[in-house]
Amino acid sequence: MSNGIKKKVTGMTVAATMAISSLGFTGEVTKAAAETKEPTNVIMMVMDGTSAGATTLARWYKGGSLAMDEIMIGGVRTHSAESAITDSAPAGTALSTGHKSNDKVIGLLPSLVNSPGVAPVAPEDAHKPVVNVLEGAKQLGKATGIISTSEIQHATPAAFSAHVPHRSNYADIAEQQVYQGMDVVLGGGKDSLLLGSKARVDGEDLLEVVNDKGYDFVETREDLLKSDSDKIWGAFAPSALAYDFDRKAAESSEPSIADMTEKAIDTLSKDDDGFFLFVEGSKVDWAAHANDPIGMISDVLAFDDAVGEALEFAKEDGNTMVIAVSDHGNSGITMGNQSTNGNYPEIPVSAYIDPLKKATLTAEGALKKMKPDFSNLEEVAGLYGLDDLTAEEIDTLKASKDGRALQSAMVNMLASRAKLGFTTGGHTGEDVFLYAYGPSRPTGLVDNTDIAKSMAGFMGIDLKEMTDKLFVNAKESFENQGYSTRIDVTDVNNPVFVAEKGDTKIELPENKNLAIVTNGSEEYVKTLNGITVYNDKDFYVSAQALNPHPEQMFKDVSADYWAYEYIQDLAGKGIISGVSEEMFDPKGSVTRGQFIALISRSLNLKAAKSIPFTDVEGGLATDIAAAYESGIVSGTSATTFEPNKKITREEMAAMLIRAYEFKTGTALQAGKEINYQDKHKISPVFKEYVQIAAELEFMIGDKLNRFNPKNNATRAEAARVIYLFHKK
Ligand SMILES: [Zn+2]
Repeated sequence: MSNGIKKKVTGMTVAATMAISSLGFTGEVTKAAAETKEPTNVIMMVMDGTSAGATTLARWYKGGSLAMDEIMIGGVRTHSAESAITDSAPAGTALSTGHKSNDKVIGLLPSLVNSPGVAPVAPEDAHKPVVNVLEGAKQLGKATGIISTSEIQHATPAAFSAHVPHRSNYADIAEQQVYQGMDVVLGGGKDSLLLGSKARVDGEDLLEVVNDKGYDFVETREDLLKSDSDKIWGAFAPSALAYDFDRKAAESSEPSIADMTEKAIDTLSKDDDGFFLFVEGSKVDWAAHANDPIGMISDVLAFDDAVGEALEFAKEDGNTMVIAVSDHGNSGITMGNQSTNGNYPEIPVSAYIDPLKKATLTAEGALKKMKPDFSNLEEVAGLYGLDDLTAEEIDTLKASKDGRALQSAMVNMLASRAKLGFTTGGHTGEDVFLYAYGPSRPTGLVDNTDIAKSMAGFMGIDLKEMTDKLFVNAKESFENQGYSTRIDVTDVNNPVFVAEKGDTKIELPENKNLAIVTNGSEEYVKTLNGITVYNDKDFYVSAQALNPHPEQMFKDVSADYWAYEYIQDLAGKGIISGVSEEMFDPKGSVTRGQFIALISRSLNLKAAKSIPFTDVEGGLATDIAAAYESGIVSGTSATTFEPNKKITREEMAAMLIRAYEFKTGTALQAGKEINYQDKHKISPVFKEYVQIAAELEFMIGDKLNRFNPKNNATRAEAARVIYLFHKK
């Protein structure tokens, strides 16, 4: 259904372009000054759950500097709205929207605020969606993309592309991501796209939608690197991708995070308006939860390679901001533990690192090699670097009842050999490092919400203003406009917001950027500039949805302009066109030729013969010929028409009424005289037409009851009369 509206818009654009030449408008209205300014780009990178201890260890393991080291510039406070230790969902929300939120909440305001220094949120605003920087960038015409090594529906990438009350709701997150209109989406999480999967109880085949939307859908590193599409959706695993060490060891077909980052930058940077890219190294956090130092090192180093790619581009580009942060600490990892209490000054780096170097796989990767009967237990332990096992160690491992217990025994053993400490298997509340590069980068100790604000400021996004535009409360806003509203849950897995007034019905399905509009017998699908969010209480929609007409077509004709409805309607039908694709010039004047062309098109008139006028040529000739043959117009002399002369209001009335007589097949006569204050100024030949035009309410006087017969008609006035003429 969305195809229909696309065609309409495309058709209109072609008509608009043609009209510029055929109607002889010279006004190539100045395009935004943005064209002369370098576009701004932002590459926002998050290494999930990475404490400073993990980066220190990864640097020693690598044996040289990290790419991140050279851009270390400050620190970040990570607490959530209600707790000292945050979950990834509110942390991601803070980084993407500039608002602290609550545990598990993605892209919505919090319902509970009790952290010191966090401003309270009004009860009615709880769980109200707030715009993220990716959405803001997209509104500015920038290309956008997200990357993760987890499933792409996971909390942090979700915070940059979706709005849901609970992070585990992959069904809604995946659907919103598909309708978000991003250019590049790379990661795991293919399952949540597939019809028949657990996530898709709503019966949506998102893979089909991805294909319909023109993405190049790729599933291997090879196909990703080969793609030359501007829109790429890569789903390289059913859920998460492998840890980088395991990926390399298995010579897997999955891309590395650096591969994905490089490809995304190549693709997005083709956009003249610049781009916003979000990248997450997701699994440092998972390894930290498991207290597996190998998984942490593996994915800190892989993430750092991706930062290297981003920096390489940013240095060359000069107008790209790169941010790399952790969203929170995890595991309390330290070099040194209880065994080093008294002797740390004597312990060299190698004592920590050498035991770790023996591992070829992460704990997860090694355990995947385990036979069901655990018969190869010592071999698996060896893959994790646990060689020369003592009898006691073998007994400990053998005592593990399941894979989970065994993993726990293995990681404890390796930590002990490498003298590493862990304080928890959960997140931690300390500040994390801030890495940033490029113009306007944030520095010093900042709050996680400040990072969203820095990115928005650099790109020129007013997040608050955009939230007001993209997420209005549907019930409240439609009811203010006299609609009756309801939430249709006939299909419980696909709630739809419905607004009705007269013979207009607007349906807004959740998670999509679509409005299905029925206007009497006419039905069309309107594409909105944002997704519709249902937070299980209220629907929030793009303000565009409040307008039952096709979307605003001209920058200089806003929805509150008096002639908006007329211009929109006629432009949508291809009858009227702008002076350029983006501008209508409503106050500009109209020539005789142009007005007749509008009438001819409105009546769908065709010319049979050529015209006697010597001053008419080009694209207008057929329209004028058709109107002339139909008796709607005559020339200004036997051989001239003066098509480029500006049309006055009284001339317009005459042409309009003659056209109306032609259309209805009836000759009209004026009734009683209308007492315009300036009636003496109306030329006698036009008097009756002006009067009929008033009676039919095609043309009326101004506030002072003047008709202004000799004034030139404006393009907006012409649109109004043609609209009314077309309707009658
Ligand atoms: Zn996290």
